[in-house]
Amino acid sequence: MKSVLIIYTGGTIGMKEDPADGTLKPFDFSQIKEEVPELNKFDVRIDSYTFDPLIDSSDVEPSLWADLAQLISDKYEEYDGFVILHGTDTMAYSASTLSFMLEGLTKPVVFTGSQLPIGVPRTDGKENLISAVEIAAAKDPEGHAYVPEVAICFDSLLLRGNRSTKYSAEAFNAFASPNCPPLAEAGINIRYNTDIIRKPVYWDAQLRVQTHLDTRVSILKIHPGITPMVARHFLCAPEIRACIIETYGSGNALSKEWFLQILKEADAQGKILLNVTQCKSGTVNMNLYATGASLKHAGVLSGADITTEAALGKLFCLMGRSDNNQWVKTMLEKNLCGEISK
Ligand code: ASP
Repeated sequence: MKSVLIIYTGGTIGMKEDPADGTLKPFDFSQIKEEVPELNKFDVRIDSYTFDPLIDSSDVEPSLWADLAQLISDKYEEYDGFVILHGTDTMAYSASTLSFMLEGLTKPVVFTGSQLPIGVPRTDGKENLISAVEIAAAKDPEGHAYVPEVAICFDSLLLRGNRSTKYSAEAFNAFASPNCPPLAEAGINIRYNTDIIRKPVYWDAQLRVQTHLDTRVSILKIHPGITPMVARHFLCAPEIRACIIETYGSGNALSKEWFLQILKEADAQGKILLNVTQCKSGTVNMNLYATGASLKHAGVLSGADITTEAALGKLFCLMGRSDNNQWVKTMLEKNLCGEISK
C-alpha cells in the first residue's frame, strides 16, 4: 500500500471562524479528516503531522522551512510522497525555497491550501487536498513517482513550486506559473505533463537537505520617482549581501548616472545584484535596450525568467551554502531545479 504524510502548517484550509470576534483561526487536523471523509477512501495510508503552533502563512519564517525540510528528510524512507497544507499567502515562497533545500528529490512534495476554509459549503479545500494526496501517491508503471518535484496543487492544476506565484487574492485559481506549463491537470483523470516534469539523475539518489539559509537579501522594486537615498539603502547597506532588483519589462531600469554609480558602488563592494522583471511573464534580456545594457555593465546579473519568490529562495540557499559570492553568482545563472528556462 502506498503512503503519504500530510504535514499541516496552518492557513485558510484549516481555519474556522472564532465566534468571539469573527476572525479566522486555525483548528486541529482531526477536524480536517472529519470534513474530508473522502481521504479515508483512498487506497493509500495517510498519516499526518501537525505543526505547533499552526500559523497564518504571513508569519512564515526560514526556521519553518528548515523544520519542514528536516521533517521530510527524517520521514523520507517511510512515505511515497508528502503533502504540505500551507496558507496561500506565502506558499509560492515556501515551495520555491524548499525546491532548493531538498536536493536529489525522488518523491513528490506537494503544497496545497485553499481560498475558503474547508468547513464552508463552497470550499475549494476539499478538491485541492484530494488531488494533492492522489498526486503525492501516484507512481508510473515502473514504480517511480510521477512528480519527483516540489509542486503546488491548486484549482485542478499542478504547478512547479519554484515557478509559481500567488496571482489572485479571491479567485479559486489563486496560483499561476506563467513561464512554465502545468506539471499536471486534474480533470476526470489526472494528466501528467511528462515532458515538463523533471526526473532525478538517479532514482536511488540520497536526499540531501540544506537547512542553513543566509537571509541577507534585499528586494528593490524600481519605480518612477525612486530616490538615491532609497536605492543606496537597498543596494549598499552593509548588512546586505545580495539585492534582487525588480526591473521594468525585459530588465530595464532608469538610466540616470546617479543610479548607475550606486550600482557600481554595490558591485565594487562585492554585492550580488540580480535582475528580475516585475512582469509576471517573460524574461530579462539585458541586451535589448540601452537601459538594460547599462545595468549589465554595472555588474548586475540576469535572473532570466525567474520569479522573485524563486530568486529569494535560491539566494538564501546558495548564500547559506557558501561565503564565496563569486561562486554564488556562478550558480545563480545555472538552472538548478527548473526555476529558469535554460
Ligand atoms: N492568510 C492565509 C495564509 O496565508 C491565507 C490563506 O491561507 O489563503 O495563511
